[in-house]
Amino acid sequence: MTSVRLGAVELGGTKVICLVGSDPGHIVAQTRIATGKPAETLAQVLAFLQREVSRGGPLAAIGIASFGPLELRRSHPRHGFITRSPKPGWAYVDVVGPARRALGVPVGFDTDVNAAALGEGRWGAARGLDTFVYLTVGTGIGAGAVVQGRIIHGLGHPEMGHLSVPHQPGDHFTGQCPFHGDCWEGMASGAAVAARWDRPAEQLDGDTLRAAARLEAGYLAAGLRNIVYTIAPQRIVIGGSVTALPELFPLVRADLREALAGYPGLGEHGAEDFVVPPALGPLAGPAGALVLAHRAMAT
Ligand code: ZN
Repeated sequence: MTSVRLGAVELGGTKVICLVGSDPGHIVAQTRIATGKPAETLAQVLAFLQREVSRGGPLAAIGIASFGPLELRRSHPRHGFITRSPKPGWAYVDVVGPARRALGVPVGFDTDVNAAALGEGRWGAARGLDTFVYLTVGTGIGAGAVVQGRIIHGLGHPEMGHLSVPHQPGDHFTGQCPFHGDCWEGMASGAAVAARWDRPAEQLDGDTLRAAARLEAGYLAAGLRNIVYTIAPQRIVIGGSVTALPELFPLVRADLREALAGYPGLGEHGAEDFVVPPALGPLAGPAGALVLAHRAMAT
């Protein structure tokens, strides 16, 4: 991949990261754009990429990793659109069409978490593995699963953040998912932590902070149990702001071991490297967009 010149875009709810390069170690241009109205934001993204084409030569392809939900079925008339997004103005916005028209190159498109999974698989914490899960726990919970080298797609993309999880003992919080109330995201996202404790995780301290971390670990382990039994991942990578809670990773590993209760008895599930933080940090999404671009070249 090192000789290919690719464009990568990570379209987030508050900011867009755009870059040109071939891999995370070879980035030749990068910019950050505030996410505003769709037409203006996409115009700024495309202007950056077109400027880089004028300066440095053509791009072989571009990859776009976006907040969802997205229409990913190639046969669908709205392929390449953001679909039912609650973000004001962004519902049913065509993202891929304008990019393809402006740049005239293949465009890879997938969710931000699916892209981050691909990025961590290519260059990061899941390097060398073919079946793994990338989970982000920030304002919401999202997850991407790579199974035998391929991102899972079906009718749409998985929405593992909305799995059902049992309430942890003593927790009377009713959940805050607008669709399901007490689903995984409703109980364990950053927004849920803030609602349960009346302030964001980064403002908690003392016994409250430790209690929040223990409870969060319990919920994460409960959701991960479902994922372990469904997908049989070789590794689970967890990123997002909520992972800054103290001792979260050791607590999640211990709670997951307990939740699995020795079944099916795989030693790997108890290993220190089964649940790990990302290696690429904030570059996971843009790096994943580079993988999307590279894959789009071949299709
Ligand atoms: Zn939900």
